[in-house]
Amino acid sequence: MSDFSIAIHGGAGTITPASMTPDLEQKYKAALRNALEKGAGILSKGGTALDAVEQAVVVLEDTPLFNAGKGSVFTKHGQHEMDAAIMCGKTLQAGAVAGVQSIRNPIRLAAAIMQYSDHVFMSGHGAEEFARKQNLEFAPEEYFFDMLRYKQWSEVRDSDIFMLDHTAGDEKFGTVGAVAMDQHGNLAAATSTGGMTNKNYNRIGDTPVIGAGTYANNHTCAVSCTGHGEYFLRAVVAYDVSCLMEYKGYSLQEACQTVVMDKLVRLGGEGGLIAVDRAGNVAMPFNSEGMYRACVTNRSDARIAIYKDKVPEVSQKL
Ligand code: ASP
Repeated sequence: MSDFSIAIHGGAGTITPASMTPDLEQKYKAALRNALEKGAGILSKGGTALDAVEQAVVVLEDTPLFNAGKGSVFTKHGQHEMDAAIMCGKTLQAGAVAGVQSIRNPIRLAAAIMQYSDHVFMSGHGAEEFARKQNLEFAPEEYFFDMLRYKQWSEVRDSDIFMLDHTAGDEKFGTVGAVAMDQHGNLAAATSTGGMTNKNYNRIGDTPVIGAGTYANNHTCAVSCTGHGEYFLRAVVAYDVSCLMEYKGYSLQEACQTVVMDKLVRLGGEGGLIAVDRAGNVAMPFNSEGMYRACVTNRSDARIAIYKDKVPEVSQKL
């Protein structure tokens, strides 16, 4: 068997042991494990990185614990508007969708845009119309409703405050994403989100913007981000990690360290990312209190974590 690697995330933010119960922690870890196993199962059978990241993200979108698909946060108008993107590192093809309201799995729509349209990025009603033509599954508003997200939004709905769902002090967090290297040496990245609680309607974050929240290139790495999107957009985070590797010869770890722990911190941008390089190394850096994350390779056991580690988070190829 040739080498493969996959990493996933379920969002970054103020996630501390004090904000968690043992029961909830187990639920998060089980959900991360499910998604990781879905992706790793595809890769171990020789499937593509693209398929693995899409399917892993579908599992996370279907889990209301995370802020993507079912369980997405509320906009200022009390609705759900979801963003997603997927990118193939081999061809540099990409598909992205912003502000969709009733698509059960926005990542499937992003993948369909990449595969079956002449476009890269669609939004709103046009994207939904395309989804209908592709026979993608729609869901009623109630499907996306989640009581805790609603309460969280109710506390800020009459203000101009908008926030990461992870910093709101309730126990449910997370944009989701996946990156992978398959046995053919191809890379892919996928990210999906409901955005930020009480965001302006029609606000778009970094997640669906190729190069900001999502990027993949076989020559360098695949990256999926999570955090305060406005900063990730301004810092062009995912592409910056790739550029530091391509133009400066940085290792994956050096590039991630520079962007997440230095550049983003100086800008004031809270969050983190997951990344895999063409050798199958995995990095999962974040500058927030915690990040729901997991990774596995054909050479190492699954690693599932939530809080900060004492050792740097890069698993080198064995
Ligand atoms: N980056 C996402 C956004 O700004 C939020 C998140 O990662 O939770 O829309």
